[in-house]
Amino acid sequence: KNATEHKNCIGQTTCAYCGVGCGVDIHFEKGEPVAIEGTPSHPANYGKLCVKGNHLLETLTSEDRLITPQIDGKSVSWHLATDMIADRLIETIRSHGPDSVAFYLSGQLLTEDYYVANKFMKGYVGSANVDTNSRLCMSSAVAAYIRAFGEDIVPCSYSDLEQTDLLIIIGSNAAWTHPVLYQRIERAKQINPAMQIVLIDPRRTATVEIADKHLALKPGTDAAIYNGLLNYLANYDGLDKCFIEKHTENFDGCLAEAKQWSVNRVASFCELKVQEIESLYDLFLCSPRVISFYSMGINQSSSGTDKCQSIINAHLASGKLLRPGCGPFSITGQPNAMGGREVGGMSNMLTSHMDIENATHREQVKTFWQSPTIASKAGLKAVDMFEQMRSGQIKAVWIMATNPMVSLPNRPIITEALKACETVIVSDCVARNDTLEYANVVLPVSGWLEKDGTVTNSERVISRQRGLIGPNGEVKHDWQIICEVAKKMGFDGFDYQHVHEIFNEWTALTGYKNNGSRQLDLSAIGRLSQSEYNNLKPQQWPIKPGGDSRVFVDRQFSTSSGRAHFHPVTPRLPIQTTSEQFPIVMNSGRLRDHWHTMTRTGRSARLHAHTEHPYIEINPSMARTLDIVDGDLIRAQSSTGEVIANARVTDSVRKGQCFMPIHWSKQYASHAKVSALYQSVIDPISGQPESKHTAVRIEKMNYA
Ligand code: SF4
Repeated sequence: KNATEHKNCIGQTTCAYCGVGCGVDIHFEKGEPVAIEGTPSHPANYGKLCVKGNHLLETLTSEDRLITPQIDGKSVSWHLATDMIADRLIETIRSHGPDSVAFYLSGQLLTEDYYVANKFMKGYVGSANVDTNSRLCMSSAVAAYIRAFGEDIVPCSYSDLEQTDLLIIIGSNAAWTHPVLYQRIERAKQINPAMQIVLIDPRRTATVEIADKHLALKPGTDAAIYNGLLNYLANYDGLDKCFIEKHTENFDGCLAEAKQWSVNRVASFCELKVQEIESLYDLFLCSPRVISFYSMGINQSSSGTDKCQSIINAHLASGKLLRPGCGPFSITGQPNAMGGREVGGMSNMLTSHMDIENATHREQVKTFWQSPTIASKAGLKAVDMFEQMRSGQIKAVWIMATNPMVSLPNRPIITEALKACETVIVSDCVARNDTLEYANVVLPVSGWLEKDGTVTNSERVISRQRGLIGPNGEVKHDWQIICEVAKKMGFDGFDYQHVHEIFNEWTALTGYKNNGSRQLDLSAIGRLSQSEYNNLKPQQWPIKPGGDSRVFVDRQFSTSSGRAHFHPVTPRLPIQTTSEQFPIVMNSGRLRDHWHTMTRTGRSARLHAHTEHPYIEINPSMARTLDIVDGDLIRAQSSTGEVIANARVTDSVRKGQCFMPIHWSKQYASHAKVSALYQSVIDPISGQPESKHTAVRIEKMNYA
């Protein structure tokens, strides 16, 4: 509906989808949401919305919603469900120790949910086995930022994209995955046609539309591009020697490795032309302001942390960071992956950017929480967590707002893990998904527009997600359910009456003593009343007088030395290599109009209409060899599983490669879950799975 017709009553919240974090205005008539538009004043989108955001209201149906708690498939009261969870967790911890329990969370949760879940596990159960599906999305970027800067800091803002001379988009199809940000880049280019945009991606994606150059490199070779760049900068007077000397460490070791990467070697390794590489390097050298914009194509790799580090190394060496229009800029996939990071939402983190491996930090958090214990070491990362479930070491898991049966690699292992686990608790708002089938206890939770709390987007802006409509059925908020269980387990510290009390507690913790974070201090927001919290405006951190939220302005990084850390990178090829049996590389990614496993976008006929059926893109030469034409039903098989979908013959994928969208699940097309192909191959530092490079064979399906 046309939003301008409904100006009487407006509620403001944040889009439920990607990490751009657009503000949305919801127009109400007679208490019902009837129209949606972008919030004109929100700093992420200034009134714009993409097609997913524009159709958010269509996803608000009560059909297929979970509305009552269930135990073993039977509806029960909340009282009974939370009693059973508390009893099972107490018994499991008593019999097998704290590490026999795990939480698996989601970047869809709000910061307050994440905070309470982490407090429960790390401070009261005493285990850090609390991880998240954000592990699959941006954990490599996090690991590299911590290694380089001493803190998980994304050093750029969206406005930097409008002030740069050269934008390198590497491993991102921003046109489809972060559309409103892409539109901002498009407008910036229109205003300043001299701005150069280089797309580095094995596929020719929709993002190529705004690129001046497209480097279709061999998949997985990205780190060589940046290693070669560092070498080139050193050879052609492109180093900021003063910055390197005063504010960094370990440059020589890093350069020694980069010296191995001549332009010729990079070209050969990446299967690009020498001129393409030289032209990119010259642009970097000559452009005063450069941004490297990256996302899942870099992160979802068995060497994702090193790839991110190679990008950071080049920016540190050239001094092209921490000033307008410059820097390494990772973009998160989910709406609140960043908020989760702020409250220690991963198994190797503590809240407020504190370090779980640091005894002083652990003690500070324990004292602040007045908790009986604190996890003494990092917990299991997602893939390892499910492995330990399979082998019987984890006896109880609580999965919130995510569908690991579809999103985690190696479906047979995840199936065995959930079958082996004695207690599987799943909180979700949908009545059907592939994971719910394995749950002993199912808990109905509030969904978008019912949930109340905050999210943080890719540029460190905290925004309110507001509960503008009443909860459906008997649903409760995630934080409320955790608190009820915590109290039944005899834990104090969970007596929150309203979500703003959780926000106040965690912002106070960000400013607590000397917690090691130089940037994440939200204590200036102060203790908010419920009404102040309800009216909280988008807020970018670090919070400083005058509103400039640039990070590390004093060039004092959060490492123990105060210097940024170069780390030498040796480019490595993906682990899942092709063979005679599996000769083709399968890439995977998002579509423009769908989101994750389609539990929301699948409800919108208009979004569904964009791509109704699963497909696999294959190159024309491969199609000829395999006698496949557009629309044929084809099968892709890896060593772990198979998918069946229609062929799309296109030269947007390179020879020997194919691409499949990630969204289909059992509910929509049971044979089209691309994750069924992935092996359990992860980055050794970040634990992020390698989901962009799976070796497969393809064949035409014959029905004769
Ligand atoms: Fe929502 Fe992302 Fe689209 Fe903005 S760009 S409307 S946050 S999906």
